Amino acid sequence: MKKIYFGTNLKMYKNIQQTVDYLKTLANETAELDRKRYELFVIPSYTALPGATESISQEQVILGAQNMAWEEEGQFTGEVSPKMLEELGINLVMIGHSERRHIFHETDDEENKKVICGVKNGFIVLLCIGETDKDKMDGVSNEVLRSQLIRGLKGIKKEDAGKIWIAYEPVWAIGVNGKPASEEYANAKHKVIRECLLEIFGNYGEDVPILYGGSVNPQNANSLIVQPYIDGLFVGRSAWNAKEFAQLIFNTI
Ligand code: 13P
Repeated sequence: MKKIYFGTNLKMYKNIQQTVDYLKTLANETAELDRKRYELFVIPSYTALPGATESISQEQVILGAQNMAWEEEGQFTGEVSPKMLEELGINLVMIGHSERRHIFHETDDEENKKVICGVKNGFIVLLCIGETDKDKMDGVSNEVLRSQLIRGLKGIKKEDAGKIWIAYEPVWAIGVNGKPASEEYANAKHKVIRECLLEIFGNYGEDVPILYGGSVNPQNANSLIVQPYIDGLFVGRSAWNAKEFAQLIFNTI
């Protein structure tokens, strides 16, 4: 049976103590969650990662980093290397979040270098993709998603497909000004993504979970997760209260 994924990106919110409190509450509230069936992950800020790894067991909640350099060391002021994350006990990294692409102008080629570096260093790489409102209006969403996948995953061997998770996060659906995608729309895009992964990785493409993100909330979580092509939910605002996130999960499964 395929696993179901629930995760949150804490973005640039929560200091060290708030992150530790959040994680302890989340671990307590989800103690009954069967980790063999459900994967639960949280992606805090860099500065909170050491405290986070000490406060809970990653058998309860997997911890990830929000970004990573594409080199292991060197003259890259301000960057954090995979070796440094590994030292903290982190082996999940998110690459290409919409805010990285659109605010910090990261390109598919840069995301690709990070994906390659992440896989090479034994990380699970959560690659985020998604079309803009303009892409949707122009009717090119499928092409954009395919291109982000093909360019972002270039050079990854099919045997390493199991190291990749995809988050489909339409840019127009994310954040306070976003509107959630309908379940039909999200499912159709997940189908496009699955077909593209099968083209890239052959049968190994089935090993890649595809998570939906963008204004997931307690009202739409259930109708999204029951869609055949949706393997999990990647939640922002609606997950930042640990009790509410746990409730969303238990109401959804
Ligand atoms: P929201 O759920 O707040 O729209 O954020 C989604 C997101 O960006 C997760 O990475």
